[in-house]
Amino acid sequence: MTVLVIAEHDSASLKAASLHVIAAARACAAGAHVHVLVVGADATLAAAAAAQAEGVDKAIHVEAAHLAHGLAENLAAQVLTIAPGYTHILFAATSQGKSVAPRVAAGLDVAQISEITKVLDADTFERPVYAGNAIATTRSIDPVKVVTVRTTAFDPVAAQGGSGSVEAGAPVPDSGLSRFVGQEIARSDRPELAGARIVVSGGRALGSTEQFNDVLTPLADKLGAALGASRAAVDAGYAPNDWQVGQTGKIVAPELYIACGISGAIQHLAGMKDSKVIVAINKDPEAPIFGVADYGLEADLFGAVPALVEAL
Ligand SMILES: Cc1cc2nc3c(=O)[nH]c(=O)nc-3n(C[C@H](O)[C@H](O)[C@H](O)COP(=O)(O)OP(=O)(O)OC[C@H]3O[C@@H](n4cnc5c(N)ncnc54)[C@H](O)[C@@H]3O)c2cc1C
Repeated sequence: MTVLVIAEHDSASLKAASLHVIAAARACAAGAHVHVLVVGADATLAAAAAAQAEGVDKAIHVEAAHLAHGLAENLAAQVLTIAPGYTHILFAATSQGKSVAPRVAAGLDVAQISEITKVLDADTFERPVYAGNAIATTRSIDPVKVVTVRTTAFDPVAAQGGSGSVEAGAPVPDSGLSRFVGQEIARSDRPELAGARIVVSGGRALGSTEQFNDVLTPLADKLGAALGASRAAVDAGYAPNDWQVGQTGKIVAPELYIACGISGAIQHLAGMKDSKVIVAINKDPEAPIFGVADYGLEADLFGAVPALVEAL
């Protein structure tokens, strides 16, 4: 049984999400062979990194200028050219994975299995439904399983220590269906939200961008944490879109999640309730967030958070 993982990378290294997906690939069958497809322009280092990840037998490195930005149409076509021979094709359930996997599934005329959180056997997977309120067990009889993986549900394999080979693959021609126009990358010294060990999140209660930053940034700085937000805070413009945690935002499962002035709506909980330790600061004792919190502080966050920073 050979499983293909579609790598996410920045040309120089693999993104952490791919290490989680490789772990899921290894779980698909005892002794499964794992190949990693690294598609890009100037991605030699990323391909070498993929081959060094624990449990990877082979990295397939496909290089072409038109493959530089991971355009979904080209990437899906590339995956489809090498799909025959694989029992499983795995993507991270990230924006990229969610964009490419359906195209691959449609191309192979199979059903996509979305956001798996557990592999029960080679055909059977668990995945959350109804915003995480129920876990569905899904068995697929398709010859190839096209799967997206909820990365927080699988411990990553080690980035180093593997001894896979690197093989060059032939690029598909440019589909011409889409074109890269530009990108705005927010640079930050903070850890990436989805993979952070600690997340400090703020809700509507913060009241403004200035207060969001003034109150939460010192706490995040002290803890070396990523900043997150509820959708209400994002919609109000207090925090950028890519900080949103929840059903329609990022799924996080850090060791410590501190929710400040967040009510704990079901859609927010869907994105963070698997965090190892949850701390909630809210002035409403009835707030649902207290139902999932390991530690709850019923207090005004504008007093409590600065006091916490002071104490740290
Ligand atoms: C289809 C759909 C998808 C959604 N996806 C998401 C999602 O991905 N993520 C998400 O977060 N939401 C999502 N939502 C929205 C969600 O339902 C809630 O509206 C949202 O999470 C509320 O954000 P909040 O907790 O910041 O605001 P509120 O619900 O307004 O809560 C604010 C909280 O702050 C407390 N508070 C007020 N002042 C203070 C103070 N001074 N000190 C301490 N506490 C204080 C209040 O007691 C209250 O509990 C979605 C909704 C829908 C319908």
